[in-house]
Amino acid sequence: MTSREATATPQVRGLSNPLLVPPNHPLPAAVGIVGAGTIGPDIGYYLKSAIPGLKLVLVDINEEALAAAVKRLAAYVEKGLAKRKITPVQAEDIQQNLTTTTDYGDLAECDWVIEAATENLDLKRQIFSQIEAVVKPNSLITSNTSSLPAERLFSHLTHPGRTTVTHFFAPAFRNPAVEVIEWSQADPGMVLYLRGLFCATGKVPLVTSDALCFMLDRVFDNWCNEAALLLEDATPSEVDSVSSELVHAGPFFVLNLAHGNPIIVETNTLQMEEEGEHYRPAEIFRSTETWETLPPGQTIEVEHNRAAAIRDRMLGILFSQAVDILDREIGTPEDLDLGCVLALGFKKGPLELMNELGAAEVQRILDRFAAERPGMPMPKRPLAEYFSFRRFLLVDEIDGVVVITLRRPQAMNALNDAVTDELLAVIRERENDEEVLGFVITGYGARAFCAGADIGSFPELLGDAQAAAGFARDCSRLLLHLDAMEKPVVAAINGMALGGGLELALRCHSMVASAGAWMQLPEVTLGIAPGIGALTVPYRRWPEAASVFHDMLRLGRKLKAEDAQEMGIIDGLSDDMSGLMPLALARVRQLSGKVARIPDGQCEIAAPTPVEPRNKHEEALPTDTQAIIESAIVACAAAETFAEAIELGYLAFGETACTDSARTRINAFLGR
Ligand code: NAD
Repeated sequence: MTSREATATPQVRGLSNPLLVPPNHPLPAAVGIVGAGTIGPDIGYYLKSAIPGLKLVLVDINEEALAAAVKRLAAYVEKGLAKRKITPVQAEDIQQNLTTTTDYGDLAECDWVIEAATENLDLKRQIFSQIEAVVKPNSLITSNTSSLPAERLFSHLTHPGRTTVTHFFAPAFRNPAVEVIEWSQADPGMVLYLRGLFCATGKVPLVTSDALCFMLDRVFDNWCNEAALLLEDATPSEVDSVSSELVHAGPFFVLNLAHGNPIIVETNTLQMEEEGEHYRPAEIFRSTETWETLPPGQTIEVEHNRAAAIRDRMLGILFSQAVDILDREIGTPEDLDLGCVLALGFKKGPLELMNELGAAEVQRILDRFAAERPGMPMPKRPLAEYFSFRRFLLVDEIDGVVVITLRRPQAMNALNDAVTDELLAVIRERENDEEVLGFVITGYGARAFCAGADIGSFPELLGDAQAAAGFARDCSRLLLHLDAMEKPVVAAINGMALGGGLELALRCHSMVASAGAWMQLPEVTLGIAPGIGALTVPYRRWPEAASVFHDMLRLGRKLKAEDAQEMGIIDGLSDDMSGLMPLALARVRQLSGKVARIPDGQCEIAAPTPVEPRNKHEEALPTDTQAIIESAIVACAAAETFAEAIELGYLAFGETACTDSARTRINAFLGR
């Protein structure tokens, strides 16, 4: 079966994981960026780093801007090399095939041109006409505008179907969020292509409607505007200090950083003219250039009542914008929350915050906000409806198979309690559905299946063997459910599978992977044992590979997908990402009605030989933890039943949580 057959159904457009849709074009070979000011070169650096061999043409009317852009790219390369984020080969590749020019004619060969020039509608429309006049008929043309709807930017063009807005966030080479706008004349295939391209190159595309300021700038601009309106009764430092409960950097600190006052005046004026007086920009923006405030991490004491008033107002604007975005279907709830975290630096998304505060408290905040800021959007539905959604999973269905994608890019798709509960809920909801053949679990993007489990709660468990074992037992609720399922669950490993993430994959009934994927149980480096199955599941399923698992568990060694396939641990390997899902779907079909249980009873395995470290890092691994892991492996294999072995694993995890190594290493890790 080919990947095209697997997705060639009318529902293709509805698939929420971008990489489930096979790309309808290759990655671009040449990209042009028009506007080499603040963000244009950063977009260029992202693309050059993500697409090897890419030809980049930077166009500006200002020679100085072009020269500064070249210097900036060189500085990024130097920094990347120093921090070992890029290799010397990549560094050379990034700096080659780079053209800077004032001549639009140099864009002729570009497959995609991104406009990142000054935020002005007439200027941008003129630029798009100039671009359309020189590029190939099938080249894509997108704008990085932060506020102007695609309809206004592109409707005058001869071929508007190949145009849209791709809105990056600063710094564009590091910030993963990109809004991709679905507008009335945009070719749906192009939007799908861009969504897939961004996802495959490490970004998190958020598809939104063509509203003024799209989704995330509505939140950001109004958040900043509200902060400025509060200055009648508070100082910027006070507003930033109170806001630090909600964001990593307060609104005034960010405005200073981005020289953003004029942008807010402009975008809020647009919103005021089209949506109402309540969006009027704060007058103070016109008279102040920089704000006296504190850097992130520093706060000042704010008088209690004033702090409460600031907090209520900032939460009020956040909740008001969030419900408006959902009521007008500008974006989805999961994208809104994720985008606020990734792009805008919120500690939690607005909907998650609403959920945590509860409907009564949210209503109190909104009532106060409505009284202080008449005209601002208010909920149109019962509050609970706004926050009942899956935060961390994308769920798709292809030919009777439910494909669950872990999407937590801020933590490389790592598990936490909420992710585990959402996974379990989706499986329980669908497993008795006659139409459902089985499930695939995969990770979002091309880098990680799942990077493990959050260890934030570990410090509380250190030194308490019983509590730690209980924690592991509790974390196993999803895995025990998988053990007992009749319908197949296949792990499609699309990148790294680490620790708890690998333990999840091991409990699926089969694993397939894409080339370059790898597995690791790095717990020993933190002084602990993997607690939810890894001490026994792999041995029971593939006893002949015992020596490989011994080294993975005691030395934290990696296992490449290619080697795992040779040993029969994974059941299929695809050359690229687009081949992975067809393999996983075919595997579900093969296993239908034939799901094998993890072998019960004792299991014979090669005894662990003394550890043989290969390098300094392995030599430095904690011997107390290694000894506990080693005896647990032996005891788990000798256990009369699988259930007993699993229980021994929880206890071993508890035992390692009481070692000095665990205390030192976990605290050092969290400190970093
Ligand atoms: P900027 O003012 O720093 O740079 C704009 C560049 O466009 C300048 O170098 C200017 O010389 C050039 N330019 C002007 N007219 C041109 C023309 N006709 N042809 C070619 N080049 C021309 O602006 P910026 O901050 O880089 O923003 C660019 C766009 O990106 C804007 O639409 C802005 O709203 C959007 N945006 C910026 C950021 C950000 O963080 N800076 C974030 C998201 C979106």
